[in-house]
Amino acid sequence: MMGKGVVIDGEALLTRLPEVRGRYAPERMMRDLTWFRVGGPAEVLFTPADEEDLAGFLRRVDEDIPVTVVGVGSNLLVRDGGIPGVVIRLGRGFGQLELEGEALVRAGAMVPDVKVARFALEHGIEGLTFLRGIPGTIGGALRMNAGAHGAETKDVLVEARAVDERGNVHVLSVDDMEMSYRHCGVPEGWIFTSALLRGRAGDREEIARHMEEIQAAREAAQPVRERTGGSTFRNPPGARAWELIDAAGMRGVRVGGARVSERHCNFLINEGEATAADIEALGELVRARVKETSGVELQWEIRRLGVMK
Ligand SMILES: Cc1cc2nc3c(=O)[nH]c(=O)nc-3n(C[C@H](O)[C@H](O)[C@H](O)COP(=O)(O)OP(=O)(O)OC[C@H]3O[C@@H](n4cnc5c(N)ncnc54)[C@H](O)[C@@H]3O)c2cc1C
Repeated sequence: MMGKGVVIDGEALLTRLPEVRGRYAPERMMRDLTWFRVGGPAEVLFTPADEEDLAGFLRRVDEDIPVTVVGVGSNLLVRDGGIPGVVIRLGRGFGQLELEGEALVRAGAMVPDVKVARFALEHGIEGLTFLRGIPGTIGGALRMNAGAHGAETKDVLVEARAVDERGNVHVLSVDDMEMSYRHCGVPEGWIFTSALLRGRAGDREEIARHMEEIQAAREAAQPVRERTGGSTFRNPPGARAWELIDAAGMRGVRVGGARVSERHCNFLINEGEATAADIEALGELVRARVKETSGVELQWEIRRLGVMK
């Protein structure tokens, strides 16, 4: 398959990859693995069996082969031409969820945030409830410093484990992570494998109530049942992206099969038949109109990966 000047050839790439205990899948369509339901193939999708398998792969893979990691794709726009090289999507070997002391939770990088919130509730742990509303994984939460309802990942993180590009395992303290608003300072090529999170002892009924409130607030304010990537743009210092987008008259505007959500205009929606190109073009149109009307240059929060068709 041809991206713009880029050839995606999963079978050929497979012959160059090291032997692993996990699974390789050539030309797996990323549209099946992202919330937006768009995106061409991962040249080869690799699901490592566990951290050791992942580290062994990274130690041995040829340096000229690009490697990209994804979670459950709730913050991703994968372009229609696909992603050259190997895309790593962690599997069951990264799904551990256990108590590691009072109010301390160890969660594998592929555990959904909502599962961590429910686990905390079961064990009467307060402080991790905000994760209830974020539809990604712990790996994605570490990379994005995901946050909501006045809390963010860095507030509850004790340490994270990561594997670097050469296959070395690191244990990073929260300070090492250099986290700020939707940002983590750890090199982009490093892959998180688990996190140790700290809550505090709380009252189960109160935590349950708080979780319900979070869910209700989400359902009211966000198009949570649609094909979307969540907040498209970062809030600029001192302003809210959605207000700028609204003031620019972009609520409900369409490009091809993509639409600016009426309910929350910092969300873009795939109405069903959108391509990644439609969504990206709509995002760029929003940026241009906001620049014209308010002078602010919005920055993408959604991560765009891969090549155009
Ligand atoms: C309806 C909706 C609501 C949302 N609400 C919120 C919200 O309230 N707050 C918020 O912060 N976000 C929100 N998001 C965005 C998104 O859920 C978060 O950014 C989430 O943390 C992404 O996790 P993921 O597993 O889906 O990662 P992906 O989207 O798959 O990847 C996101 C980034 O993380 C990197 N990454 C993923 N896993 C790893 C890993 N193991 N190691 C290293 N890097 C990794 C990827 O390379 C990529 O750069 C929302 C999204 C949607 C669709």
